[in-house]
Amino acid sequence: MKCPYCGFTQDRVVDSRESKEADSIRRRRECEGCNKRFTTYERIDEIPYMVVKKDGRREKFDRQKVLSGLLHACEKRPVSANKLEQIVDETEAYVVDSPERERSTSEVGELIMTRLKEIDTVAYIRFASVYRDFQDVGEFKQELDELVSGKDQKKRK
Ligand SMILES: [Zn+2]
Repeated sequence: MKCPYCGFTQDRVVDSRESKEADSIRRRRECEGCNKRFTTYERIDEIPYMVVKKDGRREKFDRQKVLSGLLHACEKRPVSANKLEQIVDETEAYVVDSPERERSTSEVGELIMTRLKEIDTVAYIRFASVYRDFQDVGEFKQELDELVSGKDQKKRK
């Protein structure tokens, strides 16, 4: 399996477990190039999990796509690869757990934004500005103000 972080193709499996419904096997792998860990899923004749875009088009849920979006948002930010992978795992579980086997991109985006907000404000703002497609500067400013005042409240407690 090609490492999502460095592209190296040698890895070792550090953990394997079957899902609750026994329809997939999740494997934790460790890259032998950079030693980072990533997850693969093995399924029977994979039925794709879909995300539904704003214009109604569906596309296959793609872990790699989620991860690259996160890596982009977290560039030069103090967010560990492990944290990012947790978010990707949670995002995939969210789509997989859906009874319709699909979620809208906005639902997925909101989940990711909620997690990023807890971890790193700058990464959150970067991700949100791409994902939420802020209509104007005023809207963006409002979001920033809310974040800043939210922080102040925490400090006062
Ligand atoms: Zn690697």
